[in-house]
Amino acid sequence: MAGESVNVDQWRTRIYRYRLLGGRCRECGRAFYPPLPKCPYCSSEDVEEVRLPRQGKLVSYTILYSVEEGARRESPVIVGLVDLGVARVVSEIVDAEPGTLKSGMAVEAVFRRLYEEGDEGVIVYGVKFRPAPENTS
Ligand SMILES: [Zn+2]
Repeated sequence: MAGESVNVDQWRTRIYRYRLLGGRCRECGRAFYPPLPKCPYCSSEDVEEVRLPRQGKLVSYTILYSVEEGARRESPVIVGLVDLGVARVVSEIVDAEPGTLKSGMAVEAVFRRLYEEGDEGVIVYGVKFRPAPENTS
C-alpha cells in the first residue's frame, strides 16, 4: 500500500494477534489470553504459546458508551467475555446489535482494526469476535 510505514515490531504484533495466540501453563495446564510470560493462575514461568480456537461462546457482555480517544467514533462499544473452551477472552464484539446478543450464543474471531495510533495514523489490527453465522440460519 502506498505511503504505508509499518515497522517490524508492529508487523509482528499484527501476526501474533491475527493468529489468536494464547499462553498455556505447563505447570497447571491452564490456558490464558493474551499470552503472558507468567501463568496468571499459579505464577509459574513455564509457559508456552498455543493457538486458540477461533470459535467460542459468548458468556456475558457489557456495553460501553464512553470509550477511549481514537475509538470514540465507534461508540458505543460492546465488550464480551468469550469462552473458547480452553480459555476465556475479553474482546470487543462487532457486527452485532446489543439487543440481539444472548449469553451462550456462538461467536467467532474476526480480524479487525483495533485502533489508530498517533499522528502517523498507523492502524493496529487485532482479533475481535462476532456472532457466528449459525445463529441466524
Ligand atoms: Zn499455571
